[in-house]
Amino acid sequence: MLRTGWLVLLLVSLLMAQPNDWQTFYEKSNFKRTPRYAETIAFIEKLAQASPWVDYQTFGKIPQGRDLPLVVLDKDGHFTPEAVRQSDKVVVLVLSGIHAGEIDGKDASLMLLRDIAIYRKMTNLLDHVTVLFVPIFNVDGHERFGPYNRINQNGPAEMGWRVTAQNLNLNRDFLKADAPEMQAFLRLFQRWLPDLLIDCHVTDGADYQYVVTYGLDKSPQVTPALRRWTKTVFEPLLVEGMEQAGILTTEYFWIRDRKDPTRGLFRGVLSPPLFHRIRSGTEPHFSAHRNPHAETLPPAGECHLPHDSTGSGNCQRPLF
Ligand SMILES: [Zn+2]
Repeated sequence: MLRTGWLVLLLVSLLMAQPNDWQTFYEKSNFKRTPRYAETIAFIEKLAQASPWVDYQTFGKIPQGRDLPLVVLDKDGHFTPEAVRQSDKVVVLVLSGIHAGEIDGKDASLMLLRDIAIYRKMTNLLDHVTVLFVPIFNVDGHERFGPYNRINQNGPAEMGWRVTAQNLNLNRDFLKADAPEMQAFLRLFQRWLPDLLIDCHVTDGADYQYVVTYGLDKSPQVTPALRRWTKTVFEPLLVEGMEQAGILTTEYFWIRDRKDPTRGLFRGVLSPPLFHRIRSGTEPHFSAHRNPHAETLPPAGECHLPHDSTGSGNCQRPLF
């Protein structure tokens, strides 16, 4: 339940604002802009200075010389895997910006971190859970900033690039681990062995009625006990939580054949399970970089770009 609660609250935080001195860059921009790397780290360091529950760490240096950032959130001040293991808490890892242009997870995480660590909201969520946040995974790609990197999305005004400085797609690198970023991530994962990984993405213009879709790996490659628990316990609680929050959601899906939509849809996650842990993905509709109270979504079926970059004639692309 607590793990489900984390995923629900992360998604709900995409749509909430809290005006005060602790406003994030995203909130101050009226949900139009996302902060650069330096601004993101500065906000996290401010959080860490103000709250004994937050610790800022790094877990590697990548090709252009930047540090990979990690935030540890723990109500008892346990900031190492060894200390957390002794406390017997569940570890949840929230990964944002594996595709750096899909950055809603970073902005939602900063708001949620602030809400818990500074405002002391929903603090019961930390009773049995330690949370790790990677606010930006593809850091070099994130800093390749520009307004036209994700032209199918409706925000933010400027955003990062999909692949790394070495043109590697980190979301295709979990097994081959060519990228220094992925090698560092796998070392981090092995050290902490999180019980749940939440991998945050954004659609690149897919247009449907759902505010957000989720992916849970329930395929035969997952250990049977985990698969059973995911299907019978985790997913029903997640769906129920989102319904109670009034946010329309469904399982991640895509068209089976881009050249022939009449062949129908498929759904599910096509990613390797890591160390027999549960991996889930989130994919907000377009981008949540908008004020839901001030704007409305485009009409269902409206296509903002007549042809995508593949030349397939569809305005939608599978990007999970
Ligand atoms: Zn993605």
